[in-house]
Order: sequence, then C-alpha cells, then structure tokens
Amino acid sequence: MTATRVLVLNSGSSSLKYQLLDMRERARLATGLVERIGERTSRLKHTPLTGGGESRERGGPIADHDAALKAVAAELAQDGLGLDSPELAAIGHRVVHGGKRFTEPTVVDDAVLAEIERLIPVAPLHNPANLTGIRTARSLRPDLPQVAVFDTAFHTTMPESAARYAIDVETADRHRVRRYGFHGTSHAYVSRATAELLGKAPEEVNVIVLHLGNGASASAVRGGRCVDTSMGLTPLEGLVMGTRSGDIDPAVIFHLARVAEMSIAEIDDLLNKKSGLVGLCGDNDMREIRRMIDEGDERAQLAFDIYIHRLKKYIGAYYAVLGRVDAVVFTAGVGENAAPVREAAVAGLEQLGLAVDPELNAARGGGARLISPAGSRVAVAVVPTDEELEIATQTYALVGGGGD
Ligand code: AMP
Repeated sequence: MTATRVLVLNSGSSSLKYQLLDMRERARLATGLVERIGERTSRLKHTPLTGGGESRERGGPIADHDAALKAVAAELAQDGLGLDSPELAAIGHRVVHGGKRFTEPTVVDDAVLAEIERLIPVAPLHNPANLTGIRTARSLRPDLPQVAVFDTAFHTTMPESAARYAIDVETADRHRVRRYGFHGTSHAYVSRATAELLGKAPEEVNVIVLHLGNGASASAVRGGRCVDTSMGLTPLEGLVMGTRSGDIDPAVIFHLARVAEMSIAEIDDLLNKKSGLVGLCGDNDMREIRRMIDEGDERAQLAFDIYIHRLKKYIGAYYAVLGRVDAVVFTAGVGENAAPVREAAVAGLEQLGLAVDPELNAARGGGARLISPAGSRVAVAVVPTDEELEIATQTYALVGGGGD
C-alpha cells in the first residue's frame, strides 16, 4: 500500500491544530483543534471530513501536548484514520522561525531540533511550542519522517538591502537582528495560486500579496521569489493588525519607558496585544468594526482609516520595489471576506493601473477570483490561502511523494 496521507500539525503554546490530508487527491480527511492545553477546561473539537461524519467535542483536562496528540490520535482512529496506519507518509509541522539557515522544508533530525531550539531567542513565543509538537509526534511515531515547514523560509530570498536594518552591522549579526518575515507559507501558496489564476508560470509574474488576517503582512514577489515583506525580526513590524501596532517609531518605546515608566514586558504586551485595531477602537474583528462604522462610531472609522492608510502605503512601496506589478492579491480572514477593505485599499490608485469592479468585489465566492474590471493593467484578485495544504504539499514532496 502506498503511503499518501500527511498529518499537518500547528502547535501553539496551549493549542494544537491539525489536519489529515490524502495527497493523492489533495483531499482533507479530518481536521480539528485542541484548545487550552494544560488547563482544566481543555477542549478537543474533531471533524471528520469523509463519510458524512459529524464534528465531535470533548471537554475535560488535557495536561500537555503529549496527551493532546494522543487524544487526537484516538479520534482519528475512531474514523479509521489512525496514526499507526501504513498509509501515513509523514507528519508536517508548522515552525514559525527558521532564521537564515532554513530556506526549505526540512526533515527533522536531532541537529535540526537543536537549530530550531537555538532560534528561541528570536521567537520566544512560537518556537518552543513548535518544538514540543515535533518532539511529541516523534515519540508517537519515531519511524515516520517529521518535516518542519518554516514560516520564514519563503522570505529567505530577500536581498540584503531588504533584509537588513540600518543599524550597526556587528551588533546586528552578533544577535541575529535582521528582517525574517512571517506567514511565508501563505505568501508562497497565494503568489503561486495567483500566477495560476492569471494563466502564467510563477516565474513570469510580479505579485503584491496582502495577507490580512488577525496578524497581517504584505510581500513583494518577483517571478516567484520574495524580494520584500512587511514583518521583520518578529511579526510586530509592518501593517496595522488585529492587536499589533505594526510600524512605529522605535523611540516610542524609549519614550514610554522614560516618561510612563513602563517596563519592557509591559511595552511588549502593549504593542503586541493591546494595539492595532483593538487598541484604536476596542475590537479586532473587521466585521464588528464595519458594524460600528455603520452605526456612526468615530473611533471605529478612524481605526479603519489608519488600517487602510498603512495598507495603501505598503501597496505603493512594493509597487516601487517591483517596478512592474501584474497582480495585487488579497488573502486571509479580512482579505478574503472584507470587500470594503479591498475597495478602500486600492481607491485612488487608478494611475497605477489598480481598480476594483464593485460587483465583482461584492460577490461572495469560495475560490480564487479576479475583482478588477476587465482589461485592467494590473489584476486585483482574491485568493483564499491554504497553509495546511501548502505544508502538506511541501512535506509530501520532500518525503518522496508526488512524483508519480
Ligand atoms: P485569520 O487570522 O486569517 O483567521 O483572520 C481572522 C480575521 O478575519 C478576524 O479577526 C476578522 O477580523 C476577519 N474576518 C473573518 N471573516 C470576516 C468577514 N466575513 N468580514 C470581515 N472580516 C472578517
């Protein structure tokens, strides 16, 4: 029997998201999520996607990631999709930070684990959780290839002029301070899918990808290779996000430390968790913000305007970086669903060849689609992202699948 299944794991500090895919037909077999791992109120939601099965939920304490993965394995086994099946080819793990070293998906061995561990200082929130997920999966199926797929990998093609901050080179190198970028799996998938939508090869097109979810980032992709992206050393830089400020003058931090006597931890919390849309108007859900605007809420209107202003600046900047742009593409929760954001982001950019057709923009459709008027110089598109499929595809290709 050929092994064609890939389990994709995305381990957070207290959560474990998973999808089981069959790569023969690129079909999803099951998906689910374990939340609040380590608390009394843990919850597992499992959804089988074949045979008309219904979602199942399980409450009660799940002590750690090991217990979480075992619980997931039990759910999968109940659907005849057990992790001991010979059909399972590999487990693909989302790993947030791969530094400069990991430019490609990588089969995990002890040296790879050590290197991911060495990157913890630049990804203190994410890499420890990702490591726990890999170690747990490895102990459950030591014989199976475990593949790490890095959020930073797609951005390792950025030239030094985009990847370096203009600070003392020695200090930067000693402490690995540079622009790494994140959401790379999504930017890779979406830029390739956009080329496909245009009926071209990825090498032939220049694309600006706007990944607008709760976290948000933009990237400039020339001929399939990333040449700039808006997130930096951490996911804090760049666009206005749900709870993150994006770009600010770094001196704001010194000012708050000196004048407001805030600690580094407090400022970190402020900029990462209490800023962005939530800091500006008290909510980070774009649906709620649009509703508040409709009711005449001025703070929500200002939050929206700041969000759009920043987005527009990045479209302009990446237009200049690329020189020639074939498509601007919107993806992730906000990008795929919020027509007013797409409309406002390109409003007034007709001189750059950018416009949206109001009807196409308002239409709701599942798949990748163009929303620019026919004959536009630059295509504007909506392309749903699929990070799990991309992780599974990269994992499967690496372990020798997909060749037949
Ligand atoms: P993501 O991080 O990609 O899952 O995106 C989550 C965000 O997408 C939410 O915080 C919402 O702001 C936004 N979102 C989801 N659905 C919609 C919708 N129908 N309209 C506007 N925004 C949405």
